[in-house]
Amino acid sequence: MKHLIRLSAGALLAMSLAGCAVNPVTGKQEMIFDSVAQDIATGTQNYVPSQQSQGGQYVVDPGLTAYVNQVGKKLAAVSDMPNLPYEFVVLNNDVPNAWAMPGGKLAINRGLIVQLEDEAQLAAVLGHEIVHAAARHGASAKSQQMVVGAGALLAGVAIANKKPEYGALAVGALAVGATAWNAKYSRDHETQSDIYGIKYMQKAGYDPQAAVELQELFVRMMEKQEPSWVEGLFASHPPSRDRVSANRAEVAKYPKGGTRNKDAFQRALAQLKKDKDAYTGYQDAIKAAKAKQYDKALSLVDNSIQQQPKENLFWELKGKLLLQKDQNKEAIPALDKAIAANPNFFRPYIYRGMAYKELGNRNFAERDLIASQKLLPTQEASEQLGDIALAKGDRGTARAYYEQVAAAGGEAGERAKVKLAQIQ
Ligand SMILES: [Zn+2]
Repeated sequence: MKHLIRLSAGALLAMSLAGCAVNPVTGKQEMIFDSVAQDIATGTQNYVPSQQSQGGQYVVDPGLTAYVNQVGKKLAAVSDMPNLPYEFVVLNNDVPNAWAMPGGKLAINRGLIVQLEDEAQLAAVLGHEIVHAAARHGASAKSQQMVVGAGALLAGVAIANKKPEYGALAVGALAVGATAWNAKYSRDHETQSDIYGIKYMQKAGYDPQAAVELQELFVRMMEKQEPSWVEGLFASHPPSRDRVSANRAEVAKYPKGGTRNKDAFQRALAQLKKDKDAYTGYQDAIKAAKAKQYDKALSLVDNSIQQQPKENLFWELKGKLLLQKDQNKEAIPALDKAIAANPNFFRPYIYRGMAYKELGNRNFAERDLIASQKLLPTQEASEQLGDIALAKGDRGTARAYYEQVAAAGGEAGERAKVKLAQIQ
């Protein structure tokens, strides 16, 4: 009997270690596969690569990131997991999206913030995302894919393929779908995040009515049917009239009123609003480039650069277009500007490396490609590095790079296999 009891106690202990934990938000027992420490490790490991693969941080106005952090931290402090190492960044991405990683690592895209009207609406977005982290939704949906496996290369991120077309130069598309944090939370998780997000907003002093407005905004945006939007926010947070009603019913449980902070929000957003036309011009330039109207695209992006010369994406597009036109020498100063404007974004290093490679400057090409790998390991950079090593007669190094590329699969992987067979 005693033996049996000990066994079942042991089994219970094993279960609590391996599978069951209390949801810190609802207080209910749930199947959770990771410890909180593992949540934090997962978030920390994936946070930077996820930011990189989605455009990197928005750097034109660092004050906006500081503001978002301040609002986010206020909400996190009243959450059920106030001690997670919360971080909030603004990503330089036009797609309206926001996400939370396990362990409290959050992001909101530039393209979502511009759609909002006041701080309470921003708090509705961040409150919802904080619940995903605090309620450990990521840990209980372990089947979702981690962005980066240990030592793995991201495939298809830079979209720069081989000359002459650079893979038809899929300019601007940031491979959001392929490499974004694949948070496909369940409907239950979404409902829970809506309900507790409203609670956190109210606790932090915000008008919870903003959560209803946010859902209404999402429904309106959904009706516009921008395909990239559906890939972004709405893939993980499907809006619906039902959801609007559910939020309205939830908000009705609280007293009316609360902080809106419209002026503070509008001040924090002033630069982004001022640059609205420049970003629209950038989007138009990308459309022109996709239609292979490279000169039109160049003149559009030059116009955007004139309006906002601190935006690294504008300079990067200019460099990419010049590469496309085989003006490698002219591409370099544009890419220099892109890198100077934001040295912490991997992609222009790849393009400048390609330009140097075309110009026969292998050492500079190698330096740039390695710099890009440090920010985000990609198949594209490894393939180029393999080509350079081979050209230098270093077959061993070339083989090592091609093996990495082959292991990551896809078209580049197939090309690498052919190259490997040739150098055996
Ligand atoms: Zn959600």
